[in-house]
Amino acid sequence: MYRTHSNGELRIENVGQEVTLAGWVQKTRDKGFMIWVDLRDRYGITQLIFDADRSSKEMVEEAKTLGREFVIQVKGEVIERVSKNKNIPTGAIEILVKELTVLNKSLVPPFTIEDETDGGDELRMKYRYLDIRRNPVKNNLIFRSKVAIETRKYLSDEGFIEVETPVLIKSTPEGARDFVVPSRMNEGQFYALPQSPQTFKQLLMVGGLDKYFQIVKCFRDEDLRADRQPEFTQIDCEMAFVEQEDILNTFEGLTRHLLKEINGVEVAKFPRMTYEEAMKKYGNDKPDIRFGMEFGELNEVAQHKDFGVFNNAELVVGIAVPGGNAYTRKEIDKLIEWIKRPQIGALGMVYVRCNEDGTYKSSVDKFYNQEDLAKWAEVTGAKPGDLICVLSGNADKVRGQLSALRMELATRLGLRKPNEFAPLWVIDFPLLEWDEETQRYHAMHHPFTSPKPEDMHLLDTDPGKVRANAYDMVLNGNEIGGGSIRIHDKKTQALMFDHLGFTPEQAKEQFGFLMNAFEYGAPPHGGLAFGLDRLVAILGGQETIRDFIAFPKNNSGRDIMIDAPSKIDDEQLKELCLKLDLKNK
Ligand code: ASP
Repeated sequence: MYRTHSNGELRIENVGQEVTLAGWVQKTRDKGFMIWVDLRDRYGITQLIFDADRSSKEMVEEAKTLGREFVIQVKGEVIERVSKNKNIPTGAIEILVKELTVLNKSLVPPFTIEDETDGGDELRMKYRYLDIRRNPVKNNLIFRSKVAIETRKYLSDEGFIEVETPVLIKSTPEGARDFVVPSRMNEGQFYALPQSPQTFKQLLMVGGLDKYFQIVKCFRDEDLRADRQPEFTQIDCEMAFVEQEDILNTFEGLTRHLLKEINGVEVAKFPRMTYEEAMKKYGNDKPDIRFGMEFGELNEVAQHKDFGVFNNAELVVGIAVPGGNAYTRKEIDKLIEWIKRPQIGALGMVYVRCNEDGTYKSSVDKFYNQEDLAKWAEVTGAKPGDLICVLSGNADKVRGQLSALRMELATRLGLRKPNEFAPLWVIDFPLLEWDEETQRYHAMHHPFTSPKPEDMHLLDTDPGKVRANAYDMVLNGNEIGGGSIRIHDKKTQALMFDHLGFTPEQAKEQFGFLMNAFEYGAPPHGGLAFGLDRLVAILGGQETIRDFIAFPKNNSGRDIMIDAPSKIDDEQLKELCLKLDLKNK
């Protein structure tokens, strides 16, 4: 037996027992005739003592050879510690070692294996297995496992069946590029890795499974952005014989269960907001509603004066920043600079100071009197002591810019508290989205999403106005899940492909299998998928998903530990009938 106890287990009650422990040497303190070693494993740390008097000189000499991260096994007696360590659960005892076995040596680790490490990101990723020995990473992985287990518990109690779908498939359009895998047996042909199991889960509904879920890896070859992983995990779900309402209730139930079991937080019924309302009030389809600062549209009260900038704008819109009147002129100028950066792209910002005495002082006093500004304050909900920030221009652009400002200010004001949870549903998303680049409509969710029947008549005349039975679950300003009621008849699906610019032949070539299935009694169905990595990070009160993934890719999509992606042999290329032509790239 390698060990009788873990290193987090022994207490004062165990004093007098003979035990065997195993683990890693965290650190040693050498007093010459006496050596202390902190022995670590997943469960904690236990202090070992090697004492020339109470065991032997040889024992102490042996202990002196131990280095950091050596794997050792010791036998000894649990004794009471003279100076107790109140910070760790095993701090009342230590082990008087009588036998030491070095199970494996270790090189000096490239960074310290402690909660606060001196290792930079690159180094930690290269030696991720050492990084995982550190509490913050280890605890995140344990946390993630708990979320997955609670998810499985809840869904299987609700009658969901976990089904695995294939990884080597044909392209599923979810708005990104596919990762492809060449097929050796089929010269010149490729599999695609799933961007999601979308079509398969729909086929499972045609197959009568009724309630499906899967915790599943998905792959999207998207442009790299901070904190985006080319492979990520979804909690993917689908149900048959349901309406939108059933889906919202079921998965609100799951999220509530997770918040309760994982975070000990009870949340009331999730508010619902239409996409249109979210864009109007927050300039964002994933609003953070932990705080207010809602948009006030000012066209009516700010246009038709002599201020040309506002008069020519499609939208004039502002927010009240709580306590913002305390900002100095310099601070406000900095804010204006911030919002004018190319990433945000505002052309400028008008502001109004709301003085404590009820008067106003604005950057456009030339054009607006106190009465005008009082109306702005009313529309934006500004109180004495606040600052009103106003942007103007193209409605879509300005909403995006003001949303960025709202989030930035809320972060600076400490209004985005990680241990507060404010979930909501955003519903009634548009079915289609205009893409400037291709000059075409794209499916906003995916091509299998059902239009709202009452909007179907607009499909030919005003496609951008058609709403879908599509919904997102939003938590603290993040989209954590999204889905839709699906099309389940061939005619509507064909119509949809037509609107997305597929010829009937292309539609048949790519999705013939789904259209065929729809001809064999496809039940009405719908579902959604949660992004597990992000969900776990948010429940864990952290920002970066990478810290919750055992072996993540870096921001360039590389695994620097195993060095992937990497070249393959000419022999392999030949077998796959592939020829590289890197010169023309
Ligand atoms: N397949 C969709 C996605 O990955 C989710 C869904 O519609 O169920 O976003």
